[in-house]
Amino acid sequence: KVVCVTGASGYIASWLVKLLLQHGYTVKATVRDPNDPKKTEHLLTLDGAKERLHLLKADLLEEGSFDSVVDGCEGVFHTASPFYHKVTDPQAELIDPAVKGTLNVLRSCAKVQSIKRVVLTSSMVAVAFNGKPLAPDVVIDETWFSNAAVCEKSKLWYMLSKTLAEEDAWKFAKENAIDMVAINPGLVIGPFLQPTLNTSVETVLKLVNGAERFPNITYRLVDVRDVANAHILAFENPSASGRYCLVGRVMHSSEVLKILHELFPDLNLPEKCADDKPFVPIYLVSKERAESLGLNFTPVEVSKERAENLGLNFTPVEVSL
Ligand code: NDP
Repeated sequence: KVVCVTGASGYIASWLVKLLLQHGYTVKATVRDPNDPKKTEHLLTLDGAKERLHLLKADLLEEGSFDSVVDGCEGVFHTASPFYHKVTDPQAELIDPAVKGTLNVLRSCAKVQSIKRVVLTSSMVAVAFNGKPLAPDVVIDETWFSNAAVCEKSKLWYMLSKTLAEEDAWKFAKENAIDMVAINPGLVIGPFLQPTLNTSVETVLKLVNGAERFPNITYRLVDVRDVANAHILAFENPSASGRYCLVGRVMHSSEVLKILHELFPDLNLPEKCADDKPFVPIYLVSKERAESLGLNFTPVEVSKERAENLGLNFTPVEVSL
């Protein structure tokens, strides 16, 4: 089976390519610069890459750039999208590549017959930013959708880019009868394959190396291997549909700090968060749909042990860190 991964050099996509090759897929992987070894070497050395990985040049903002790439593919995993918080021109640096880029990829998909499903890498930032108050008894689930006006008012440009991109993707997919599934991960952590740091891993690293103080915020954490695995399950399971929130655990940064103290007692970490009065409340994110992704219709007597029968087991945060 032939599939396409856009933005293949990225943190999540590199794991996705690795797992797809492991599963025996032929992968057409797009990068902006196939001649940059920093973006390609870690992919070219993956098991199976020599036989089944094809690196192709494509740019989100170049109309028709993905036409020949997606042609002949059964699945398209659209992960490419800029993920930065510090930008000078949010429209050009984040919103255009996210929104126009997603539509560009989907337009290419609409032109070919081979594609059975598109899996879109969206984000929890397209789910949770709707202005609703968070509290320990609140459970965020896939029915939530971030509100563009809320993101814009607070100048949350990355959040806005992902919200608008997912909104437009659903509209286009419906209008063009594309079978699309969205994966909405929280902050992705865990080992990285690529030589350069991405924003989410950098966030943790800055806390660990003291570049930033532990803030009074909560994190929606998920392991990168679970995220890559969920993409494949969402493609392979014919009954998968709609959106899937992927959050292994919601944690206050003080809890992250506590775990880091336990795991790495030699690190020179602060005793407590920079600002902890009052603590930002913790809340929950539903795992129900994510956990059901790998589910074969399990007999009722086995259903009690559902977790063991699922394709997706959340990696403990302690392992990811
Ligand atoms: P990375 O920064 O590691 O990867 C982003 C990828 O997008 C890179 O491969 C980059 O290509 C590509 N890209 C950016 N702009 C363009 C463009 N104009 N044309 C073509 N490709 C482009 O990020 P992550 O792996 O962390 O993120 C991947 C996806 O997952 C994104 O959609 C992100 O929004 C989403 N996500 C990430 C989370 C996280 O915590 N990491 C959480 C939730 C969602 P190049 O290598 O050429 O720069």
